[in-house]
Amino acid sequence: MRLIAASAPLLLLLAGFGPTPAEPPNILFIFTDDHAYQAVGAYGSRLNRTPNIDRIAREGMRFDRALVTNSICAPSRAVILTGKYSHLNGVLDNRLQFDGSQQTFPKLLQEAGYQTALFGKWHLKSAPTGFDDWEVLPGQGAYYNPDMRVGPDDRRRRHTGYTTDIVTDLSLEWLKNRKPDQPFLLMSQHKAPHRHWMPGPEHLTLYDGERIREPPTLFDDYSGRASPAARNRMEIGRHMTAHDLKFRPPPGTPRDDPFMIRWNRTYGRMNPDQKAVWDAIYGPKNEAFQAAKLKGKELVRWKYQRYIKDYLRCIASVDDNVGRLLRYLDATGLARNTIVVYSSDQGFYLGEHGWFDKRWMYRESLRTPLVIRWPGAVEPGSVSRDLVSNLDYAATFLEMAGVRIPARMQGRSLVPILKGEAPTDWRRSFYYHYYESQLAHGVPAHEGVRTERYKLIRFYESGEWELFDLERDPQELQSLYDRRGMEQVTAELYAELKRLREFYGVSQPPL
Ligand code: CA
Repeated sequence: MRLIAASAPLLLLLAGFGPTPAEPPNILFIFTDDHAYQAVGAYGSRLNRTPNIDRIAREGMRFDRALVTNSICAPSRAVILTGKYSHLNGVLDNRLQFDGSQQTFPKLLQEAGYQTALFGKWHLKSAPTGFDDWEVLPGQGAYYNPDMRVGPDDRRRRHTGYTTDIVTDLSLEWLKNRKPDQPFLLMSQHKAPHRHWMPGPEHLTLYDGERIREPPTLFDDYSGRASPAARNRMEIGRHMTAHDLKFRPPPGTPRDDPFMIRWNRTYGRMNPDQKAVWDAIYGPKNEAFQAAKLKGKELVRWKYQRYIKDYLRCIASVDDNVGRLLRYLDATGLARNTIVVYSSDQGFYLGEHGWFDKRWMYRESLRTPLVIRWPGAVEPGSVSRDLVSNLDYAATFLEMAGVRIPARMQGRSLVPILKGEAPTDWRRSFYYHYYESQLAHGVPAHEGVRTERYKLIRFYESGEWELFDLERDPQELQSLYDRRGMEQVTAELYAELKRLREFYGVSQPPL
């Protein structure tokens, strides 16, 4: 009795010092690999439905101009962790290993008392740092029965099942067993829908009997642009492999043939039951295709349908699994104080320009989906058209958690935008730089600047430039570089490119 009597006035006294500080919000970051905004319902998809991702947008904010600084898997992840451009975080391309000793936002959240965890695709080679718990796919990871690297000692563990489900299982298991008295950062990162688009058992026949709409530029001839576009190696018609299209190696293919190696790494991982389900679905379809002997445009159209349906089937599984996480947050009451973010490491071509893959500074790969739900802070159903970037995620998460943003981070917190403020000094131009020259898909290194209306691209290896008027030519089919009448616009964009390079400390290659 006496104890209570003595402590009650003390509590009242403490309460008198001001409003109770807000509980730090939890952060759930759901991240995919190669999910194009064109395949998100909330972005007006005419291809598919994503009710669970759409729910995050409907209850939060949708960013219509979320751009990536370097449109490729590992570099995007390094930018997100560090809040720094590739030339400073060291991961210029997919070959390089992430230096885990550098400052990252998960480390800073951890120091601030957050419990941190990462499950799924990591793709940065070195062991994850800044996470209390982690279990990640080695390299690209497998769609079925994945091996995983388990922290803290980086041992191997093999799971049975479909990877998109497993990543969510691990995330849910962690949420259930975490320390409830600490705020959390949970990064739940899918391999899907990365190449080569293996659907899960529940979605193998989704879209059967339907014809998915083709993009208007499926048969692009690349006229009107500098030489790199025509020299690409990412055309659905010419470069998609038999393995991508779910054909098995012909009988007698040697074990060391690249097709057979890939086949064994993918189909070969399945158990007999999984193989039986797979074969029963793809077998008859592949036989019908062989019998049809398609040629020319009809063959490209068939490949597009096979590709896009498998891609969208992978997304259907991602969306279902987003739903599982949202329902858990609802059921436990965590939804109230948990910020939910859905994004992808970059955009992707779903047949636009005849392509699959990413890398270019053109629209579909420069943009990425980004939707954020933050109860009590974000006006439900709001939309931002500001130029935001994966460069900004680190600063955003730190400010959400009330942690100081290091001056050396180059991104800006999205918190003011999320709260409906309109910062007058927000960026009006965006700097892009892709480095993985010619390694895959024939895309040369390039850099450029995008403003509200224009995009200037510099293919510095060949000394070529492109200039697009995004208002008049949103599909970016006709470069206006060197066009009479564009001198002033070009000079302004060139000056802006120079300014941004200086601002972000880019010295190579010289302008
Ligand atoms: Ca990717």
